[in-house]
Amino acid sequence: TRTQDEEDLPHANKKTMADHLRKYDSLFTLTPQRMRMIVEAFRDTLETGLQKKGQIVPMIPTFVFGWPTGEEKGDFLAVDLGGTNLRVCLVTLQGEGKFELTQSKYRLTEEQKQEEGQKLFDFCAECLGNFVKSNIVSAGGKIEEGKNIPLGFTFSYPCSQERIDHGELIRWTKGFGAPNTEGHDVAAMFREALVKYEVPVTLEALINDTTGTLIASHYVNPSTKIAVIFGTGCNAAYMEKLPAIEKLGNLGEGSADEMAINCEWGAFDSFEHEHLPRTKYDIIVDETSNKPGEQSFEKLISGRYLGEILRLVICELIDEGVLFLGQNTYKIEIPYVFDTAFLSLMESDPTDELLMIIGIFTHFFALETTLAERQFFKALAKLVGRRAARLSACGIAAIVNKMGYLEEGCSVGADGSLYNKYPGFADRVHEGLVDIFGVKGKNIVTHHAEDGSGVGSAIIAAMTKNRKDAGIF
Ligand code: BGC
Ligand code: MG
Repeated sequence: TRTQDEEDLPHANKKTMADHLRKYDSLFTLTPQRMRMIVEAFRDTLETGLQKKGQIVPMIPTFVFGWPTGEEKGDFLAVDLGGTNLRVCLVTLQGEGKFELTQSKYRLTEEQKQEEGQKLFDFCAECLGNFVKSNIVSAGGKIEEGKNIPLGFTFSYPCSQERIDHGELIRWTKGFGAPNTEGHDVAAMFREALVKYEVPVTLEALINDTTGTLIASHYVNPSTKIAVIFGTGCNAAYMEKLPAIEKLGNLGEGSADEMAINCEWGAFDSFEHEHLPRTKYDIIVDETSNKPGEQSFEKLISGRYLGEILRLVICELIDEGVLFLGQNTYKIEIPYVFDTAFLSLMESDPTDELLMIIGIFTHFFALETTLAERQFFKALAKLVGRRAARLSACGIAAIVNKMGYLEEGCSVGADGSLYNKYPGFADRVHEGLVDIFGVKGKNIVTHHAEDGSGVGSAIIAAMTKNRKDAGIF
């Protein structure tokens, strides 16, 4: 009997889909040994970032001094400008690690990501103003004259900070490109917009989503020591001892023992491309991005790119005449049409015939697939998703090594669409940690984090306000 592959292919001695898979398997698979090498280089990079200013992985001091007590209380607003949505939240912190949250979400358009920076902040202020009107003023809550509501602004891009209510955008990531923003103080730009729209709030703190996640996770689970985001972008934060942040000099001295560091690890191996296993598909993703050379680690891991990596492999096989001969493939040849959510769906297709995969290809791309092709796509999704998870494990392992957390173990608060929605992602991170560390890798456990950009932002605004009220800066 002939295999399905042979039936579909015009030339008798052509490779089967299983043969093709073997090639991609070796390209996308990371051995434990390779992972350990990456961890070593990663750790060096983290340490250099703490010593010297202006490094590619900037290890940003956040001016969030130490952990919350869990007794932070009051009403706070949070604005979360992430990679995909704008979110406005009203958070009531009730103490004992408890809180209530009301929120509104707005989808950001591709145009908004590229238009004048000030316009983007104006939009945030406008949404916040409307939210305050409908959720506080109309709800009968009153805002006393001259008494603004404290606001935490979660801005999930690398910003170098001199104080907590300040931050100069180092570079846009995740496909943003709004002009006249890089190199500017985004807190000041947002404040300008708040004045323009007469929003009765005071921006207390500018926060990265990872820092918010670190603090929020610790608020509800005090064993948390590290926070990671695997979403549209990818990054981590952790709590560092002040003397270890050499580049700060005596700036933070006397005010606390510790400060949260926003690693901005997505930039690891940028420009040099010495340590990470980039395939030719990764190189295309990089070179066709709006920021070639940058965010090298993130481009192998985050949700913004995984679908595109897989799509590029498919396009290569189309060009080689292996896939979809005689079919019109224009729909799948458009960059970024293959959403990372499709990888999740393909991997979790439980049917023998892979009916969900049939659905994706016919519905979105008008393409007919054979069972062998669908099995190949599912396996390919697994390779790309698994590599992302194992590289993520390398980043976590680097922080664990650096901080000496392996023996005592630690809890890692994790958030983001990939972590929350991609089947098996968390398990693969854990497998990766065991591959790196042996059984002790089991001491490092990730868990779904508390909402860092909303709740975390509010807690940090509260911590900042408490410090201010106590006369500590
Ligand atoms: C940004 C980080 C952010 C991460 C996750 C990255 O692209 O540079 O600041 O924490 O995405 O949202
Ligand atoms: Mg987010």
